[in-house]
Amino acid sequence: MRKILIVGAGQSGLQLALGLQSKGYEVTLMSNRTADEIRTGRVMSTQCMFHTALQHERDLGINFWESQAPRIEGVGVSVAAPDASRAIDWVGKLDGYAQSVDQRVKMAGWMETFAQRGGQLVIHGAAVGDLDYFSRTYDLVMVSAGKGELVSMFARDAARSPYDAPQRALAVAYVHGLGPRPEHPEFDAVRCNLVPGVGELFVMPTFTNSGRADILFWEGVPGGPLDAFQGIKDPQEHLALTLELLKRFLPWEYDRTAKVELTDAGGTLAGRYAPTVRKPIGRLPSGGLVLGVADVVVANDPITGQGSNSASKCAASYLASIEAHGDKPFDGEWMQSAFDRYWETAQHVTKWTNAMLAPPPGHVLNVLGAAGQLQPVADRFANGFNDPSDFENFFYDPELADAYLAEVSAASGPSEDSPAS
Ligand SMILES: Cc1cc2nc3c(=O)[nH]c(=O)nc-3n(C[C@H](O)[C@H](O)[C@H](O)COP(=O)(O)OP(=O)(O)OC[C@H]3O[C@@H](n4cnc5c(N)ncnc54)[C@H](O)[C@@H]3O)c2cc1C
Repeated sequence: MRKILIVGAGQSGLQLALGLQSKGYEVTLMSNRTADEIRTGRVMSTQCMFHTALQHERDLGINFWESQAPRIEGVGVSVAAPDASRAIDWVGKLDGYAQSVDQRVKMAGWMETFAQRGGQLVIHGAAVGDLDYFSRTYDLVMVSAGKGELVSMFARDAARSPYDAPQRALAVAYVHGLGPRPEHPEFDAVRCNLVPGVGELFVMPTFTNSGRADILFWEGVPGGPLDAFQGIKDPQEHLALTLELLKRFLPWEYDRTAKVELTDAGGTLAGRYAPTVRKPIGRLPSGGLVLGVADVVVANDPITGQGSNSASKCAASYLASIEAHGDKPFDGEWMQSAFDRYWETAQHVTKWTNAMLAPPPGHVLNVLGAAGQLQPVADRFANGFNDPSDFENFFYDPELADAYLAEVSAASGPSEDSPAS
């Protein structure tokens, strides 16, 4: 059977490793941390995944936490007014539910499953020199090491990377004890709170080592008032600052935090990175080639919560490309075609995410505002998180946006707010 090396045991690397293993490939997985180190370490993401990405996990039978993780049935948007009241507030319903399973739980569990099923797990932080050696002994080497140092093997694709610096400062806190959501206590949603010019707060339920929890995730415009977490080492101090900023900018979310406490000492994270698309093929000093996977080749800002979704979609797409290639050599031409197939989907994520990082133009504000009166608009926006290609049809182009809003308004009939005709 064909021998494949996967370097990096995150969403994409593990999903690929388990998928290839189940199809009879001889897989070696290299991870720079053990399952226990991951499980007891620091949180890495908010990892909210939508229907299509979750379905790829179900297709492989590795949706081990689906019955325990809260079902996220909607996406809510609130926009803060200058006086910290809510200028916009609505929730769209998802056609299929989303879920967030703490990557510490999922990656540790998947790593153990891979090893139990006979996979070869090597605990080693790979360097380029290691890959040079391995590329000669494996049929295919894939690098799924996230945004770590190995990305230096893959050239930045400037044409596809409009930003060369981080666009948000990220600060995450996992908490227990968040109060009920008064807007819709009957179902869970990801709530996006936008503070114009300042940043965004995302609130979502997750399943972590200690059961159900909620995540408070600030995305701050660099240099602004939310860009204040760098250098904070004490998790309690991180939480205190999170809450202080909530009180100042989003009092309706702050009102739910009276009893919150961190899930654990590893329940906070702060950082930033520049969204970057890279060329998919890395060339090793001896001439061997390696294929980049997921964040290695397409890293978007988490403002749209797409990275784990994309990692799942990349893993599913590469798995299909590998299987379809049969016994033929995994050469550079095949690597490029495997990436191009993934980019068909990934380009929409990158375009939408980069658009959301910029100040919203008037027609986007119109769409977000109209969603408060027109439920189909709210629902469509929410479902765009599952399939961002739909934004091409109504989001970027002012004429398409206006035409869509006119169409939905007409279909919904005259409302009390409509001018009399
Ligand atoms: C704050 C934040 C919030 C986010 N929220 C969301 C969200 O809600 N929804 C969503 O879809 N995405 C979200 N993301 C993005 C998502 O977490 C990532 O895009 C996703 O995990 C990428 O998966 P991956 O497989 O490419 O890499 P990773 O998950 O980063 O996995 C890479 C693995 O490789 C290991 N590694 C690194 N270097 C080496 C080496 N040299 N040798 C061996 N192993 C190595 C790392 O330790 C890691 O385990 C968020 C990200 C952040 C930072």
